[in-house]
Amino acid sequence: MRRARLRVLLVEDDQDQAEIIEEILRADRAHAVEVQIEQRLSAALDRLADSAPDLIVLDLHLPDCQGLRALREVRQRADDIPVVVLTATDDDRLDVEAIREGAGEFLRKRDLRPATLLRAVRYALERPPASTALREREQRYARAMAGAEEGVWDWVVGSGALHVCARWHEVMRIGEPADVVDFERWLARVEAEDRAVVRAALEAHVAGRSEHLECEFRIRCDGDELRWVVARGLAVRDAGGVAVRVTGSVRDITRRKRAEAQLLHDALHDALTGLPNRVLFTDRLAHAMRRFERHPQARFAVLYFDLDRFKSINDSLGHGVGDELLVAVARRLESFLRPGDTVARLGGDEFAVLLCDVGDGIQVVTIAERVRELVSEAFVVRSHELLVTASIGIALSAARYRHPEEMVRDADLAMYRAKGTLGASYAIFDAAMHESVLDLHRLELELQRAVERREFTCHFQTIVALESERVLGVEALVRWQHPRTGLVTPDAFIDVAEETGLVVPIGWHVLEDACRQVAAWQREVELDPPLTVSVNLSGKSLLKPELAERIERIVDASGLAPSCLRLEITERAVLGHPDAVLESIDRLRARGIRVVIDDFGTGYASLSYLRRFSYDALKIDRSFVSEVAEPGPGSTTVKAILALADSLDMTVVAEGVETEEQLAALRALRCREAQGFRFSRPMDAESMGRLLRHAAAVA
Ligand code: C2E
Ligand code: MG
Ligand code: MG
Repeated sequence: MRRARLRVLLVEDDQDQAEIIEEILRADRAHAVEVQIEQRLSAALDRLADSAPDLIVLDLHLPDCQGLRALREVRQRADDIPVVVLTATDDDRLDVEAIREGAGEFLRKRDLRPATLLRAVRYALERPPASTALREREQRYARAMAGAEEGVWDWVVGSGALHVCARWHEVMRIGEPADVVDFERWLARVEAEDRAVVRAALEAHVAGRSEHLECEFRIRCDGDELRWVVARGLAVRDAGGVAVRVTGSVRDITRRKRAEAQLLHDALHDALTGLPNRVLFTDRLAHAMRRFERHPQARFAVLYFDLDRFKSINDSLGHGVGDELLVAVARRLESFLRPGDTVARLGGDEFAVLLCDVGDGIQVVTIAERVRELVSEAFVVRSHELLVTASIGIALSAARYRHPEEMVRDADLAMYRAKGTLGASYAIFDAAMHESVLDLHRLELELQRAVERREFTCHFQTIVALESERVLGVEALVRWQHPRTGLVTPDAFIDVAEETGLVVPIGWHVLEDACRQVAAWQREVELDPPLTVSVNLSGKSLLKPELAERIERIVDASGLAPSCLRLEITERAVLGHPDAVLESIDRLRARGIRVVIDDFGTGYASLSYLRRFSYDALKIDRSFVSEVAEPGPGSTTVKAILALADSLDMTVVAEGVETEEQLAALRALRCREAQGFRFSRPMDAESMGRLLRHAAAVA
């Protein structure tokens, strides 16, 4: 490849340096360089008068002239020849001034290396010095740009000078307007946190790693105001792809950034209290968990609580008062916690606190107690003095936690433990609770399998006429034939079955089994009136719209008369959804099926409920029956229930009769039916079959 000829006039008084520079220049592979060296400015100027080189490399410290004056003199003689200025000083301003005076490039001697010098040469050649005509063109361009929102800048890569237009200054708002600003000094006004970002973006683009430069950052304007700007730019590259300069624009985006920040804030905070919401809390918690993973000494804790009396305040004084109370609680908590901690409103009256860098559990407990005290001090809202309390659940950092939700769930669980323990203000989630959660989970899975494998059977217990002790019917009681642990009674699984909905398929199975069995007994042993069967119906099943039809189908298939079936419903099941349940009961009764209220007295069913629903019978709960033989509230309650049932024309069954005394007391009160160990224990179908055959034979 033929190299272009390049004639260089090197003005340098230091012999050694001149030689080094000459050597570097000659090594330029792009050009065939001829170097002429002058040690004094006067000699250089003379030479310029004779012949024009392609490039001047000018040291600013010459025996006969110092500083920028040397440049000025050279420019006066030859304002169309590019000049690379060399200086030994560290004066930051000098490079800017030099560029302003028309230097094509500027290089400090301590930066003098082959690569930098050759690059400076390339740039100086690339960008010829501004002639008068060019300067006028630039001014026209600047005036045009002044109308636009963007400020324009131009940076010769590696140089300390940034060429800018007037609009640029309006965007940046730093220092006096000038055509050239010092790059480093400008960078120093970029907000410290963003500086590295700016540098990295610039470097990446110069190195060709990004297609164009785009970078948003904050700038500290005059008057200390912080504004957001976006800089965009594109590198001009030489034939070898090396970036020579970067030209671009800046624009003020402060308004957009503020709007974005507001949106982000809204997405992460609770609108009412302004506290972080669940999303932000979870995020902070995740962060604490990651930190804990790396530094096990960075222990943390989650406190979780709701306001114990909040609902009644909301209901009685209105949501306005409730809202203000929540805000007041939020402010109190905020003022108490340390800056690194997070207090969040997770919803409704639920709050959570993330305590970071806590020592041991004792410290956490101390903080929890303090939080509880804070909350329980009276609040005054719209002249109401309000008292609320909080039972606090605590979860401590532990390696087993993988997800933030797990920790919040455990703190929540501990809170319920605290609420359930009289006089406790807090509870720490511990291994035992963990175990019980696991057990619960295991139980759920096992139950699921048990339903699929039909591991449930019925045991039966007699219901007798109190006076004669004749068997009137049987109650079907579900049992789980567990493959490993054997027979399991419902108290160990019925709640979980109810919660998971598995109680519904279990219920159908029991009903089928019980109806079929009792129909078979009816055919075998004749009783007058015919044997009845009582089956417990869960709250979940009651809400199934197909309930009545399905029951009817099962009863028909078994051959049992609908009037022989009694469905037992607990008070609690009724209370949750009174209207829906009312409809179900009506439909069942319309088909001739009897409906009994079970465990009467333990729920909250009041007289009004009894009046509203049309039950055929009620079963007095065992807890009252157990006290019926002694004078006191138990026997009084039984008496009252009997009177009530009589007035509503309902049959009463006394549940859980165990002793002769109880039997006698109930007889005296003229209760008609009973069930309990005194007559028979629940037993499997085979044993019950024998019992019934014996009973029929005796009758
Ligand atoms: P429940 O319907 O009130 O049934 C009576 C419970 O009291 C039975 O317990 C029975 O064994 C027990 N019991 C009867 N007489 C006495 C007595 O003299 N003394 C004592 N201490 N206990 C007596 P079990 O079989 O453990 O059933 C517990 C509860 O589980 C039942 O209470 C019922 O609410 C529920 N349950 C049972 N089977 C089913 C079912 O198939 N479906 C649904 N949804 N719930 C069922
Ligand atoms: Mg029952
Ligand atoms: Mg009962």
